[in-house]
Amino acid sequence: MFFRERVEPVEVYLLRPDAYIVWHDPVVRERLSWYYSVMIDEKPAKFMIAKRIESPINPYNEKHSWDELWSIHAKLAEEFAKTWRMIRDDELKLKELPKPKYSFLDLKIVLSRKLMDPCRLCEWKCRVHRLEGRYGICMVDREAIVHSYFHHMGEEAPLVPSGTIFYGGCNFRCAYCQNWEISQTNARYGKRMNPEKLARIQEYLRKTGARNINHVGGEPTPHIPFIIESMKYLEVNVPQLWNSNMYMTHEALHVLKDLIDIWLPDFKYGNNDCAWRYSKVRNYYEIVTRNLKIAYSSGDIIIRHLVLPGHVECCTRRVLEWIAKNTPNALVNIMDQYRPEHLVLKYPDRFPEINRRLYRKEILEAYRIADELGLVYKPVS
Ligand code: SF4
Repeated sequence: MFFRERVEPVEVYLLRPDAYIVWHDPVVRERLSWYYSVMIDEKPAKFMIAKRIESPINPYNEKHSWDELWSIHAKLAEEFAKTWRMIRDDELKLKELPKPKYSFLDLKIVLSRKLMDPCRLCEWKCRVHRLEGRYGICMVDREAIVHSYFHHMGEEAPLVPSGTIFYGGCNFRCAYCQNWEISQTNARYGKRMNPEKLARIQEYLRKTGARNINHVGGEPTPHIPFIIESMKYLEVNVPQLWNSNMYMTHEALHVLKDLIDIWLPDFKYGNNDCAWRYSKVRNYYEIVTRNLKIAYSSGDIIIRHLVLPGHVECCTRRVLEWIAKNTPNALVNIMDQYRPEHLVLKYPDRFPEINRRLYRKEILEAYRIADELGLVYKPVS
C-alpha cells in the first residue's frame, strides 16, 4: 500500500518566514484579498455560504430532470453571487442566514454525481458508469482515492502551511510527471475514503495549522463529486484551494466554481502539439484557456507555469502573453524546478529534447518576458 498518513504540526515562522513577509506586499494582499479574509477566519469560506442558500426543491428526489436541476442551479448561482458579495462587503453576516433543509450545496452534490455517471467530469468524456465501479482514463471509480495528506511547506508563500490532500489518478499522462506513482502507475492503490472521512481530514489539517485545504493529485477533477460532498460534513471554516490541470468540462467547472476560494491552476503549454506530445491530451489550449477565464472571474488565483527545456518560445512566451491579455491581475508562479522524471528518464530516446534541466538563460528569459508584460510573479515564484 502506498497510503501515507503524515501530519506534522510545524513551526512556520522558522521554516518559511516568507509565508508571513509575503502578506506585507500590497499587491498580494489586494489580489488574494478574499482568500486572506477566509484564511484568517474573518469571512466564511464559499462552501459555507453555499450551504445557506436555500434550494426550492429536494434535489435528491429522482423525479427532477437534468434540465430542471440546471435551471435551478443557474438561479441559485445568481443568489449565491449576490449573497457572497454582501458578505464580502460586510453588509451581511453568515449567522444571519438560516440553515435551509436543502441547499445550493445539496444541488451541487446531485449535479456532480450525475456528471460522474456516465462520466463527463473532464474533457475526455469517457462516459463510463463510475457508480457501477467502472473507470476511464483517470482510473478513479466510485470512491475517492487518497494517497497522503499533510501540511505542505513547499507551496507558494501565501499558501503554506497548505493542508494538502493528494488524490490518486489523473486524466493527463505527462511524460515528465513528478507524481507519476500516484497519478499513473499506482493510482488505484491509495486509501479509499468516503466524503465524511474526507471532511474529517480537512478538519484535522485546519485545526493543526493549515491555511487552506489544497485539493491536488494526481488530479482532483475526477474526485469533484466526493470533494463537494465532503463539504456537507465539513464544519470548520477553511479556504478551499483547487490545484489542477483545469481540463474539466464546462459543466463540472460550473458546479465547482462557487465553492473555491482560491485557484491554483497549471497552465503548461502554449499550443496543442506540445500538450499532445508530453501529456497525451487533445484541444488542450482551447479547453484550459476557456476554464482559466472562468476561474479568474470567480475568485483569487495564482497561475503556475513550469518552464520546460527548449519550450520558452512555443510555450512559456505564449502562456505568459495569454495571461497578460486575459487574466492580467492573476499572480503567476513561473516555476524553474523542471527535472527529467518518469518516462523521460525511462525512455531517454523518446524525449531527448526535455531530458535535461533548464539552462539558466532559459529561466532568465522567462522572467524577462514576464517583466516585459508587467506580470506579478516574484512574490510567489
Ligand atoms: S474524470 Fe476520468 S472517467 Fe471521467 S471523463 Fe475524465 S478521465 Fe474519463
